Amino acid sequence: MKIILSVAKKDDSIWKIYYFEHDPNENGMVFKSKSINRLLVPFYNMIKFHRNKVYCTECDARFTFFNRWFSGKPKCPDCD
Ligand SMILES: [Zn+2]
Repeated sequence: MKIILSVAKKDDSIWKIYYFEHDPNENGMVFKSKSINRLLVPFYNMIKFHRNKVYCTECDARFTFFNRWFSGKPKCPDCD
């Protein structure tokens, strides 16, 4: 599974995605980038995860929440 963090244009013509991917060799998530076809930009923008800083009023914690645009409410990791 890829977690797409960013879709960016490089050097006027090359599009790149930046993402985390689980790497069995590293036994964890590894940050990677690769160039993509320009036609795939809308697709990757659609599945991109958005990073939101969220504040929980229950326990006064701030946490970073990864979501896709169609997913539901953020859940506090402490209060969940
Ligand atoms: Zn909380």
